[in-house]
Amino acid sequence: MMIYLKYMTILMKGVIVVVTSFDKLVKFKLPNGKNVDFLDNIGIVLKKYIQYEGMNESGGVLIGYTHRIHGSVVIEELTEPQSNDKKSFLSFFRISNHHIEAVNKAKRRNSGYMGNWHTHPCDYPEPSNTDLTSWHDSLVKEKTSCNYIFFVIVGRKGYRVWVGDVKNKKISEITLYKNSL
Ligand SMILES: [Zn+2]
Repeated sequence: MMIYLKYMTILMKGVIVVVTSFDKLVKFKLPNGKNVDFLDNIGIVLKKYIQYEGMNESGGVLIGYTHRIHGSVVIEELTEPQSNDKKSFLSFFRISNHHIEAVNKAKRRNSGYMGNWHTHPCDYPEPSNTDLTSWHDSLVKEKTSCNYIFFVIVGRKGYRVWVGDVKNKKISEITLYKNSL
């Protein structure tokens, strides 16, 4: 049984949060109680890459910043797949320099790498074992301006967001900020 709320899908086995409104700013709550805003252009761009039948997987990096005073996070931009990235139906590898260049450009305005996104050819995405392995790998090798690395998977009905905690290496799905429904 599924009950549709504005942004949320609740499944019997537990609560998962699927953002089905691709054209709105979405406010999530981080495990540390701070909020993270996904600006409206994030969903708008992700929607372009929904992986329908016959399409290859897409992906890119997430760019944003942490507010110095109150510690909330803004995901403001993302990179899009390039022709020289390596893509197939079930995989995506960021080969193009474009992704690194976009992060370097963002650093000049005190933004930077916050995580990554990719698509799955299904309605409600779940991380594969390969995803979990690569996310754990990111937690060892990568850095953002906050204690978390963000991982987005885009399905056909919406996208879901997980965060990896850089300190304790735990990965968890984030929920919506209470006032954002
Ligand atoms: Zn995946």
